[in-house]
Amino acid sequence: MKLAFATANSNKAAEIARLLPDSFEIVTLKDLQVTEDIPETADTLEGNAHLKAAYVMGKYGVPCFADDTGLEISALGNRPGVRSARYAGEHRSDEDNMQKVLSELENQADRSARFRTVIALHLPDNKMEFEGIVEGEILHQKQGTEGFGYDPIFSPEEESRSFAEMSMDEKNAISHRGRAIKKLVDYLIKLHS
Ligand code: IMP
Repeated sequence: MKLAFATANSNKAAEIARLLPDSFEIVTLKDLQVTEDIPETADTLEGNAHLKAAYVMGKYGVPCFADDTGLEISALGNRPGVRSARYAGEHRSDEDNMQKVLSELENQADRSARFRTVIALHLPDNKMEFEGIVEGEILHQKQGTEGFGYDPIFSPEEESRSFAEMSMDEKNAISHRGRAIKKLVDYLIKLHS
């Protein structure tokens, strides 16, 4: 079964392909020669994941899944959420995004937060949604240099380290994205067994 992953990131696609039986062929936007920007105009993670999957399936006729992730901070009413990539502006700077969060949480006792990933899967005859969550807290300053995005200021629960102080394997084993991917992979394997 040919399945598109609506991502430009071939590492993300390779990671999922490794977890699936050979009967699945995972293709990326690059493989499909998609050059245009896919609309991500919804105001929820669910909305954006479905928009992206529907766009690819509609235009290129290949069953597709798409993911969207956000950092939800309790004291900020679950912001930055769907705006995580551009929280400090359209220039999408991880550094500026983290500084904005740290300054908004100055003097804030409740530092609880979670990363949430939603994957939408669009097949010819049905649509599914898979969610992965990791709970944790926002640190008082950056720690570590691994990873990307908000990793240096996010520490998952039952850990004193930030995501940026973990190896990729350690992070993937407990991360929001890892959990959502596991649900997707389990579903696809069942579907084809
Ligand atoms: P995307 O939906 O995967 O593109 O994620 C949107 C934004 O959320 C990214 O630009 C990052 O700022 C943030 N983000 C997503 N996943 C992670 C993660 O695993 N660690 C840290 N930040 C993340």
